[in-house]
Amino acid sequence: MNFKSKLPNTSTSIFTVMSALAKQHNAINLSQGFPDFPSSKKLNDLVANAMNTGYNQYAPMAGNLDLRLAIAHKYELLYKSHYHPEKEITVTAGATQAIYTIISAFVNKNDEVIIFKPAYDSYQPAIEINGGKPIAVQLEAPNYKVNWDEVASKISSKTKMIIINSPHNPSGTIWSKEDMLQLQKLTNGTNIIVLSDEVYEHIVFDDAQHQSVCLFQDLKQRSFITASFGKTFHNTGWKIGYCCAPDYLMSEFRKVHQFNVFSVHHPSQKGIADYMQDSETYLGLNAFFQQKRDLFLKLISESRFKFQPSKGTYFQVLDYSEVTDEYDVDFAKRLTKEFKMASIPLSVFNDNGKDDKVLRFCFAKTDETLLQAAEIVNRI
Ligand code: PMP
Ligand code: GLN
Repeated sequence: MNFKSKLPNTSTSIFTVMSALAKQHNAINLSQGFPDFPSSKKLNDLVANAMNTGYNQYAPMAGNLDLRLAIAHKYELLYKSHYHPEKEITVTAGATQAIYTIISAFVNKNDEVIIFKPAYDSYQPAIEINGGKPIAVQLEAPNYKVNWDEVASKISSKTKMIIINSPHNPSGTIWSKEDMLQLQKLTNGTNIIVLSDEVYEHIVFDDAQHQSVCLFQDLKQRSFITASFGKTFHNTGWKIGYCCAPDYLMSEFRKVHQFNVFSVHHPSQKGIADYMQDSETYLGLNAFFQQKRDLFLKLISESRFKFQPSKGTYFQVLDYSEVTDEYDVDFAKRLTKEFKMASIPLSVFNDNGKDDKVLRFCFAKTDETLLQAAEIVNRI
């Protein structure tokens, strides 16, 4: 049979490729972003309890109401920002589905969507499959700072959406308040929707504050926030996330959401709602991961890799230019096969595959795994 691919230039995600290679070569896997330690027993028990007390049929389309109330409470507590639990919060099958659904609900053929590269790999295909045109703003290693004049020059009457992501995967950098004010200024008076991917909002280091779009009144009015419980509660396999947006945007989102998933795993939602009653379950994350970042960086401080400490997310970027000038994808694969340690090459997230000779390492791992990984890094 003949058919025309809707995504002719898309191949298997680098996360799948590197995790499979790690498995094949029995390598320590610091590539795909997931913890190698168990998720909370208390949370697991709450989900089991939800299953045993009747939460086994379809959740409401927008999500279990207890969970939406818990999410709304979190925004009040952390950002003094109000999202109406019934009208402005929707529970999704991970942040990925939220992102995909937002893009398909709003991006029409030939609409332009500005993305910052290196960009998380799901944004571009989601734009393209909906007939939109990704417009890349390439950020430069090692600081990945935004040149706001360049952003301004790329905004046109065709710009439908801007996708931002702070704390940033894969670079581990964060946007400042000044960045957010620049974005607010550039979008004021336009019809541009902002998709703010905030899946790492609870993983910010050195006492920095996460700059959520909801802290900026004008931005909030045009923005979706996407979030992932997988990242917050160490259970990426559950695929539960959510998004928040003003009523007039969320009602359009739900028109699509109800037909691409309708609702998501009900007992997990109820269990997470109960678990979130204690705010320490998410507020404690910064310190938890900062200890891991600091341990990993201390252990590799004498290695031939150069780095700027990650400012947020559970990823650390390492520059290997003093080790070799190999193409980063080749080097990442060779490290997996020969040194038994998998990482993620950044060029695959860049515009035109720009290769800055940097690899991303996930430090959401037990201290024991980090010790083993550091020992390898120090041998290279
Ligand atoms: N956005 C970013 C920046 C991510 O790193 C990830 C991976 N967790 C996602 C979205 C997708 O999240 P989820 O696993 O909840 O679909
Ligand atoms: N978010 C994860 C990462 O950045 C990967 C998720 C996936 O494999 N789709 O590593």
